[in-house]
Amino acid sequence: METKTTELTELFGSMVFNEAMMRQYLSSNSYKAWKDSIRTGTSLDLSIANDIAEAMKRWAIERGATHYTHWFQPMTGYTAEKHDSFITPAPGGKVLLEFSGKELVRGEPDASSFPSGGLRATFEARGYTAWDPTSFAFLRDGTLYIPTVFCSYSGQVLDKKTPLLRSMDEVSRQAVRILRLFGDTETTRVVAQVGPEQEYFLVDEKDFAKRMDLRLCGRTLFGAKPPKGQELEDHYFGAIRPRVAAYMEELDRELWKLGVLSKTKHNEVAPCQHEMAPIYSDANTACDHNQITMDVMRKVARKHGLVCLLHEKPFAGINGSGKHDNWSLATDTGDNLFKPGRTPSQNARFLLFLAAFIKGVDEYQDFLRCTVAYAGNDHRLGAQEAPPAVVSIFLGDELTAVVDSIIHGTEYSDPGKKTLRIGVDVMPPIPQDNTDRNRTSPLAFTGNKFEFRMLGSSQSIAGPNIALNTIMAEELEQFADELEAAPDFNEALSALIRRVLTEHQRIVFNGNGYEDAWLREAARRGLANLTSTADALPVYTAEKNVALFTKHGIFSREELAARQEIHMENYCTVLTIEANTMLDMLKRDILPAVSDYTGSLCSRIKSRSAIGSSRYESSVAAKLSETTDQLLAAVEKLERDLADAPQVTEARLIYFQSVILADMSAARTLADTLETMVDRKYWPFPTYSDILFYM
Ligand code: ADP
Ligand code: MG
Repeated sequence: METKTTELTELFGSMVFNEAMMRQYLSSNSYKAWKDSIRTGTSLDLSIANDIAEAMKRWAIERGATHYTHWFQPMTGYTAEKHDSFITPAPGGKVLLEFSGKELVRGEPDASSFPSGGLRATFEARGYTAWDPTSFAFLRDGTLYIPTVFCSYSGQVLDKKTPLLRSMDEVSRQAVRILRLFGDTETTRVVAQVGPEQEYFLVDEKDFAKRMDLRLCGRTLFGAKPPKGQELEDHYFGAIRPRVAAYMEELDRELWKLGVLSKTKHNEVAPCQHEMAPIYSDANTACDHNQITMDVMRKVARKHGLVCLLHEKPFAGINGSGKHDNWSLATDTGDNLFKPGRTPSQNARFLLFLAAFIKGVDEYQDFLRCTVAYAGNDHRLGAQEAPPAVVSIFLGDELTAVVDSIIHGTEYSDPGKKTLRIGVDVMPPIPQDNTDRNRTSPLAFTGNKFEFRMLGSSQSIAGPNIALNTIMAEELEQFADELEAAPDFNEALSALIRRVLTEHQRIVFNGNGYEDAWLREAARRGLANLTSTADALPVYTAEKNVALFTKHGIFSREELAARQEIHMENYCTVLTIEANTMLDMLKRDILPAVSDYTGSLCSRIKSRSAIGSSRYESSVAAKLSETTDQLLAAVEKLERDLADAPQVTEARLIYFQSVILADMSAARTLADTLETMVDRKYWPFPTYSDILFYM
């Protein structure tokens, strides 16, 4: 099923009710009203909504749709959907296919069991969903998907899309103020741009089916180190195996149909690990598309007898999966505000946006850390395979030289050897293509964007992008206030950039983030090192963070507290499920298997004692029964400790992190030791070697 070029251009977006389709299916009046509503951010009136609903329905039904769904992104980080068919009763026992504007702009899912962090009283437990007109509807498996926001009746935000859209508006508003100061009268909107690179594992479904831990937890809770892991690095960018190539080809086609700009695919460091990167788009679309991508990745895998694992750490001792969130700001006239310019004025503008970013990340490093804090990601951050838990910014040598010369007022040795003065009229060129790569940095400047590398692979990208946009809005607002009031713009600009870069130097770090020396240095600099979810989540609602989000109208204090509560509960729930799965596998799979094998050794010892030596059987049996007894004690301890877990959320969080995780780790070590001693035939499920080297 090779894709031909012409076929591809037709395939792309064929399942999307995109702008071209809207122009074709809508009256010119409605089409224009939709465009205006997006441009100005105002809501559609009901007659227009009716018209759009009718057109959407017609488009969908012509392509075989029978149902529609309001597709939304509750605070779980996943997506949710409830399917309704288009049918309404008609005279004569017949049906009509109907879909009204009301159903488009306001649906009511019976969504009372989504986590709300205590925001909804039960009498108003139902939330409502409303179409996000900036995101296109699409068709999947006979259903029209309508991307929607999700709120409670009293207007509290219950999803991840609403705050993302708000943060995009805020950063745009403040960035435009700055652009006006540079004499830009054309830009009306600045749009956060995001390109998320997605890592994933593929395993054979037969192995997956035999492992309860993979099925229930998405990761292995047991598994001795295989004789071969990723040491040879023979997988990274290696030739893609035929079975995986077929998967990737179908994945691309399915994503293209849905308008996802899937661009790059390659193998990753670990065996069976791969990556897909799309071409970047506005943050809202990127977020929707990343959710679609994760879903399509899982579904397509099943057709190839594979299972796609999006967990951050499916296998201990093998690299985990992350998601790189490439982020920048661009004007609606097509200018990237993080691209060093060709003219002095563009460069001064670039440095101002850079200074805002550096200041913002320094001031809200703890909150950025919180946006990636959850159980799965704790296994990789700081584990020498992903960035440490300390947030810092990598600028690269050349840009650092520019920054240093600004701070010290010294000459910047650019090719022209001009003194570096900041101002719209004077600025030496800044190197354009910064090709430096430092894979150990959590937040790297990569030439014209920042790459935030702390995200876990299963995570919604909404949270980190809400934070980046809001932080940037705050700093740009402070800058705009200061510069608008200044009598001499050039002078004020120069002083501001120099002051900010000087005050926030500590957040810039170009060295190796995996080294312990950096952690000591970071502590000396006073940077936050929130090593685990349990450390990080309490600072989510630090007063300065609440002040930031309430000021910009992104979250109310209650909404922020609700989110914190949900994240904390999620952490404890994930660990409870993992601990219970572990106990089940230990008691019903591992211990019985070891006992069987030990029993067979013992009966051999008995029969062999007649002929003399049974040294092999005896020594293995003795070691097995000793380890088994230790394992039984570990099981009993884990059971006891689970039963003793405190009920209050904050205490529970710390208890799970310090007590339950340690118990699980102790039990695992013993079980993994047993795995290396037990006859292969007796071991109850596939081992790491079986799973990782399946082809
Ligand atoms: P890498 O070396 O990390 O693979 P790429 O150039 O391939 O870097 O880009 C990775 C991701 O960054 C892609 O999704 C790409 O579309 C996205 N990207 C490129 N430029 C920008 C930008 N200006 N803003 C946001 N994302 C971008
Ligand atoms: Mg990258």
